[in-house]
Amino acid sequence: MKPADIDTFRKALLGWFAVHHRRMPIRETRDPWAVWVSEIILQQTTVSSGLPYWERFMLRFPTVEALADAPLQDVLHAWAGLGYYSRARNLHKAAAMVAANGGGIPDTMDGLLALPGIGRYTAGAILSFAFGKDAAVVDANIARVLARLESVEGDPKSSKVQRLLHTTAERLLPHGEARDWNLALMDLGAGICTPVQPSCSECPVSAFCVAFHQDRQAELGISPPRPPMTEQTDVAIVLTDDTGRIALVRRPNEGVWGGLWEVPRVTMNEDETPEQAAVRAGIERLEVQIAPGPVVATIRHTVMRRRITLRSFEAQLTGEGFEETEDRRWVTPESARGYPLSSPQRRLMETLRTSDLQV
Ligand code: SF4
Repeated sequence: MKPADIDTFRKALLGWFAVHHRRMPIRETRDPWAVWVSEIILQQTTVSSGLPYWERFMLRFPTVEALADAPLQDVLHAWAGLGYYSRARNLHKAAAMVAANGGGIPDTMDGLLALPGIGRYTAGAILSFAFGKDAAVVDANIARVLARLESVEGDPKSSKVQRLLHTTAERLLPHGEARDWNLALMDLGAGICTPVQPSCSECPVSAFCVAFHQDRQAELGISPPRPPMTEQTDVAIVLTDDTGRIALVRRPNEGVWGGLWEVPRVTMNEDETPEQAAVRAGIERLEVQIAPGPVVATIRHTVMRRRITLRSFEAQLTGEGFEETEDRRWVTPESARGYPLSSPQRRLMETLRTSDLQV
């Protein structure tokens, strides 16, 4: 875009935004803590799905100190269902760092980037949305809009293209209006400049758009198709004692569902039967020998690019029981509800509650 056109372009987009902006409660706050939490939650979900989580999380942890003071298990419990639990752990760690420094959330790019879990996008969002500072942001919607407007070639997710898009975003950012500007670009990407068949005839800035003039909307700002999903079978064991308690184990802190609790579960190897995998689940996760009974639940879910079928076997101990530790326990059905569980595990528990097992 020619420097002489930038001012007119900004006025056109901000004028459109003043009339067509999306209204959402998440945007009504300027509290840096609330903005920070919302940006972490919305990295992994849509606004409509993330909003109830954000509202509940803010009620439970209304300040950065409240989160810093809470045990990690409570934080994971409040996060349960959102996935990407490393984000909750980082948020908890970062809140502790901020609280230890007096509780003031940094209002500089460097100060925010020093906190775990905050990258350039989140830092820019906090600076512009909460502090009203001149910080550009590039999320997926903005990346697509800018790539089309300015004909930035390549995969918008690649680091090289991200750098170019950041430079473009900073060049176009109007001084003193970063909040509305960033939101305007987001809303344009969400509602008009959509990935497929953008509504260019309704676009307030089509006059400035290279993709529109060259009819290249389908090539610019689009990532290559993602690799196909792979199939996986996991096996879990539902082991109960004679008082009806169920054996739960805690996952390691790193990796998928880090720190969450579950019935012992393993991924089935190619050279074993589901029953053999169930026996292995007993050995590897609880250090006990079990005999698998019937399948009591089959849950299908996805993780990243994996489509997983989780088959859960009722199981009986055939030898000694296990010793309870910090990472494995017998829990009553009532207390199991208070443990942080992943979505598939909560679905499994619901299925078991309505089954003959009455877990
Ligand atoms: Fe996107 Fe079309 Fe507007 Fe260009 S003219 S920014 S491609 S909606």
